[in-house]
Amino acid sequence: MEEYIVVGSGISGSIVARKLAEEKGVKVIVLEKRLHVAGNIFDEYIDGVLVQKYGPHFFLTNEWWIVEYLKRFTKFYEYPAQAISYVDGKYINRPYNFRSLQQILGAENSYCILTKLRNAFGEKRRISLFDLLSNEDDEIKKFGKIMYDNIYSTYVSKQWGLRVEEIDPLIINRAQFVLGYDTQLCELDYQYLPIDGYTKMIQNMLNHENIRLELGVDAVKNIDFDDINKKVCFRGHAVKALVFTGQIDSLFDQCYGILPYRSRIFKLNKFKTSQLPCGVVTYPKNFDYIRQTEYSVFNPKKTNTTVVQSEYSVPLNPNALVGNEPYYPIINPQNNEIFLKYMERSNRYNNLFLCGRLAQFKYLDIDTAIMSAVDTYDKIKNED
Ligand SMILES: Cc1cc2nc3c(=O)[nH]c(=O)nc-3n(C[C@H](O)[C@H](O)[C@H](O)COP(=O)(O)OP(=O)(O)OC[C@H]3O[C@@H](n4cnc5c(N)ncnc54)[C@H](O)[C@@H]3O)c2cc1C
Repeated sequence: MEEYIVVGSGISGSIVARKLAEEKGVKVIVLEKRLHVAGNIFDEYIDGVLVQKYGPHFFLTNEWWIVEYLKRFTKFYEYPAQAISYVDGKYINRPYNFRSLQQILGAENSYCILTKLRNAFGEKRRISLFDLLSNEDDEIKKFGKIMYDNIYSTYVSKQWGLRVEEIDPLIINRAQFVLGYDTQLCELDYQYLPIDGYTKMIQNMLNHENIRLELGVDAVKNIDFDDINKKVCFRGHAVKALVFTGQIDSLFDQCYGILPYRSRIFKLNKFKTSQLPCGVVTYPKNFDYIRQTEYSVFNPKKTNTTVVQSEYSVPLNPNALVGNEPYYPIINPQNNEIFLKYMERSNRYNNLFLCGRLAQFKYLDIDTAIMSAVDTYDKIKNED
């Protein structure tokens, strides 16, 4: 009987499992309810094109040690994240910058506002929508309102089904306005994609003599709680450590309420010729889909087919055939309160470790998920 259990084979669970197997030298069972490993970074070849089933993921980080660690399991190629937006018949540069402003207002109408922005914000390089909207200059404010009406609020209502005021301001602040012509969508130092895909990388990570993988298993059905000894049990036995990377509310049968998410529906179409002006196009206002990705654009090998994935943002419905996976946690004070109750409950069990985006009810990027997985491993290591 293995005494170390990891629930979930996404990047979080796989990192912890590998470290337990390799560095601690213990036997580990990894349980995965899907029929494949890699969680949301799962990718597969379709007509020679590497397609990410659950939406495009770019590996972006400032932490070289994370790159070094992953390089043991994959080769990377450099790919600076890129995207553009489509608004009312025009393609608009991203990040939203002075060029986007000219595309929106027209070159002839932009001179005065460009000068005002330079004067108002001086040396600053990036500002938020709120900085534009709250500026004392009427023209800057008016431009902020145009961005708000045509890009931000329409995007928020498509993505979340909510008004901007109902959203955590941190989420809005993720889309910055660049004061200049900087075209870097993201300012992080290392921007890569794995040459043979994320799935291969995760398979290599889990390929260790101490790791046993069980696919198609809902771990929750195998877990129960020993409240007297303060232990979580797996298949009737108390284990040394159980690392849980699934939805925290599902672990406790949603006893304090449901933690809500937005989901996505993905549709694929194949073409013979290139379709989009950039690998990723976002649609904050027009059409039903919110984003399209043409995977052949960042495929390391040339192919005769191009694959376009269209993403539709929908409310999560666990019982539906599509739109049944939790993607974006709906974070607000009420849901945070529910989350805290689950956290308190989890803290009762000294062999239970919560890790990853679903267990922490947080939006985590790949690199932050890895950092948190390494922290989790360090905690388990220090328990003995
Ligand atoms: C649409 C989208 C695009 C994104 N793009 C980027 C990007 O470009 N760059 C970036 O850095 N990050 C991106 N992210 C974030 C990235 O997806 C996460 O950081 C990463 O997937 C987190 O990994 P994880 O292992 O914590 O969770 P997951 O990948 O969700 O893995 C959890 C695993 O646990 C399994 N599981 C759950 N419950 C159970 C159970 N009861 N029993 C057994 N198994 C279970 C699930 O099936 C899943 O395989 C994006 C996220 C989304 C939603």
